[in-house]
Amino acid sequence: MSTSRGRRRPPSSTGSPTSRAARSLAGEPSDRVARTVGVTATRSTLSTATPPLASVAPRGLGDDARELAAGYAPHHRLYEIGGICGAIVATGCLAVRLAETPQILPLAPLAMVLGMLAADFISGFVHWACDTWGSTSTPIVGQLAIRTFREHHVDPTAIVRHDFVETNGHNFALSLIPSIAGLEVASPFARACLFATAVFVAMTSQIHKWAHEDAPPSFIRLLQRLRVILSTDHHDVHHAAPHTRNFCITTGWLDRPLHVARFFETLEGLVTALTGARVARDAPSAATTAPPPP
Ligand SMILES: [Zn+2]
Ligand SMILES: [Zn+2]
Repeated sequence: MSTSRGRRRPPSSTGSPTSRAARSLAGEPSDRVARTVGVTATRSTLSTATPPLASVAPRGLGDDARELAAGYAPHHRLYEIGGICGAIVATGCLAVRLAETPQILPLAPLAMVLGMLAADFISGFVHWACDTWGSTSTPIVGQLAIRTFREHHVDPTAIVRHDFVETNGHNFALSLIPSIAGLEVASPFARACLFATAVFVAMTSQIHKWAHEDAPPSFIRLLQRLRVILSTDHHDVHHAAPHTRNFCITTGWLDRPLHVARFFETLEGLVTALTGARVARDAPSAATTAPPPP
């Protein structure tokens, strides 16, 4: 399915991204798939299968991928649809409020860059947390968030088969936080920054999906080449062992400084020291909350 770097695009591939994904993954033994990822989702940690909606793992991919895809439950989709509707309303209200302060227009590019940086950090933090801690059985976030990240590591091309709702619903819902904060703040500049943050948080999963597609729109390819948004080459680093680099999936701008600062390694050490929890990728299974050593 992928090269040693974890690329999702065999150079000789032809046809649609979806068909290429299915062909490249079909017939791959599940243990081989598991070796290419840092987070191993074992069958014992997976929830009871629910009939899949938009997610369907290709035949032959392995039980883990199929069970993770089957965890996409009807109530999860309802939550995503609600998140999309709520985000559109909240961001629309925020845009109306912004239009009332046209004097900050010269600061709009700065607000946009700050919003992109904030969204990139949020994407990296959430991605790191879901890759590193908990399991699909963790209450609430296990199925709503951790499952999708674990599925993405077992089956990196599943994202290109997801429809708009499954791809973007969770991030749209997450964007409600900066949108609502933007409606509450008094400073027009802070409001503009939070508006940009909300827009790029909402777009993050779509940007990540484009990085996995063989043929994204040409304008998107240009933005990827210019490193304005996450590029495939940059994101490939995350899909290669040991899967502890490049967690940021909006622009990827913060990956290098966070790596140099050993930000996530330091956080992992802190969490383990304070709680005794074990990092998921080092545990024998994805269930990670272990009692502190005696
Ligand atoms: Zn990951
Ligand atoms: Zn990815």
